[in-house]
Amino acid sequence: MNNAYDVIIIGTGAGGGTIAHALAPTGARILILERGDFIPREPANWDPEAVWKHLRYRTSERWLNNDGLEFVPYTHYCVGGNTKFWGGVLYRLRREDFKEIEHFDGISPAWPIDYDALAPYYERAELLYEVHGESGVDPTEPPRGPFPYPSISHSDEIATTVERLQEQGLHPSPLPLGLRNPGEPDGCILCNTCNSFPCQRHAKSEADSCCVRPLLGRKNITLWTNAFAQRVLTSSDGRKCEAVEVQRNGEVVRATAPLVIVSCGAVNSAALLLRSATDRHSDGLANSSGLVGARYMAHLSTMMQGFHPFRKNHTVFQKTVAINDFYLRGPNTDYPLGQIQSQGRTHGVMAQTVAPWIPLWAYNAWVARGVDWLVMTEDLPRTDNRVTVERNGRLRLHYHPNNLIAHSSLVEEMRRILRRLGFWKIMTYSHQDKNTTHQCGTLCFGTDPAKSVLDPYCRAHDVENLFVVDASFFPSSAAVNPGLTIAAQALRVADHIIETDLRSTP
Ligand SMILES: Cc1cc2nc3c(=O)[nH]c(=O)nc-3n(C[C@H](O)[C@H](O)[C@H](O)COP(=O)(O)OP(=O)(O)OC[C@H]3O[C@@H](n4cnc5c(N)ncnc54)[C@H](O)[C@@H]3O)c2cc1C
Ligand code: SF4
Repeated sequence: MNNAYDVIIIGTGAGGGTIAHALAPTGARILILERGDFIPREPANWDPEAVWKHLRYRTSERWLNNDGLEFVPYTHYCVGGNTKFWGGVLYRLRREDFKEIEHFDGISPAWPIDYDALAPYYERAELLYEVHGESGVDPTEPPRGPFPYPSISHSDEIATTVERLQEQGLHPSPLPLGLRNPGEPDGCILCNTCNSFPCQRHAKSEADSCCVRPLLGRKNITLWTNAFAQRVLTSSDGRKCEAVEVQRNGEVVRATAPLVIVSCGAVNSAALLLRSATDRHSDGLANSSGLVGARYMAHLSTMMQGFHPFRKNHTVFQKTVAINDFYLRGPNTDYPLGQIQSQGRTHGVMAQTVAPWIPLWAYNAWVARGVDWLVMTEDLPRTDNRVTVERNGRLRLHYHPNNLIAHSSLVEEMRRILRRLGFWKIMTYSHQDKNTTHQCGTLCFGTDPAKSVLDPYCRAHDVENLFVVDASFFPSSAAVNPGLTIAAQALRVADHIIETDLRSTP
């Protein structure tokens, strides 16, 4: 079989799906490799028991932690990657996030590009992912034009909460959300099984529906599902990638291309490069800096629920509001604390996974009277927080969370806010270091090859025809959801590739 292409893209998530969509119109022959398969449209898509109890769509792979103990990471391998399960909260980083910022626990480093470099690509990414929002309300918002679609209306309960938050002197703002045609016959029905569930109607803006599926049937696009990229193979001098070694249908095959774009997610991309070590790249491909896999970040996040025994929460779609007042500094400190956003409704089954001995009816009664929030803080890059690959191929995540004071201060501030809103009891829960959902930073981009793996266009410093466009490139994690930034940078890299590498492709 002739497996020769112009471009190979590995992974179909926020980075891979977006760049495939952007490169497809060039006519270049593109092979997209995806280790998972399409998520079937089925009733289980929206079944909390299937999703949360039986973990139907999550990987069953086990990674090792600091102590060498196994855990199941919160990640999904499928067409669309983790975007298939995301909440569709699609934020631009704040202008300040691109600069060096001092935090409780140290420095969040500057990015090699500023907000203005990414702004036009944010605009394109918001169009592609059909983002709904309202500009001019969020006090931390970077300069921008109007959103392509109007913000999603609050439920009555959340609208009242917003008024009460304003009475507290806060500045709540509409959450920017990627949803397709809400209210239209074929569109989003604003249900209560969105965040962490795949959308049965394909109405969530994610990489499968918005980017990959529209390409199927194009002559120049080939998609291999259930195709695991195990190594990227390089030329004898180590300067260029020549092929990708792929496990597919029980055999190992090779595909070749003059351009390889890796986008397996921050942990798996680092692992792929580490597995691709050769004599020329003895510590892993593109690893002359020693930073491949290092600087892993994942955000500090805590779910919080305000409970009132006599107030039933009738909200169905709850994820519409954010509080960014403490993003750049806290109420009693000059250090940043992070972001607060309302969450999708908790289902009894989800809550039961925390304490399975409590009966479901009790949880259902509880969550019916709860309002759910997510509190999120930036964690800082440290070289010893890193991904490694064990001799037997197992992935190991060495991660000690940092910036904990900032996070606990934000959680305490939210507790005060919820008490002022009249809630009797406030519950908190965190997946802690098992929460790999916002993984980033393992192949950081920068201008200095000694201090970064990728250049500012996400091209590997050491290997001229290798790009990485997933969340690996983040030099800092900021404190807003990462997805839109990954997509925007993928569009920026695509423009660069079209301008430079694909010029000579017929
Ligand atoms: C429940 C949940 C909710 C979230 N909510 C939000 C949100 O509201 N907003 C937001 O911005 N972010 C959210 N996120 C995070 C967001 O989904 C990720 O930041 C984003 O998907 C990362 O994009 P990526 O391209 O780096 O990786 P992914 O989207 O994970 O894509 C990586 C792809 O590579 C494939 N792959 C991996 N290894 C290989 C290999 N060796 N060979 C072939 N294919 C491979 C994977 O199967 C996958 O398709 C959420 C995540 C989860 C899990
Ligand atoms: S219908 Fe809308 S709210 Fe429900 S899962 Fe789909 S995108 Fe999310």
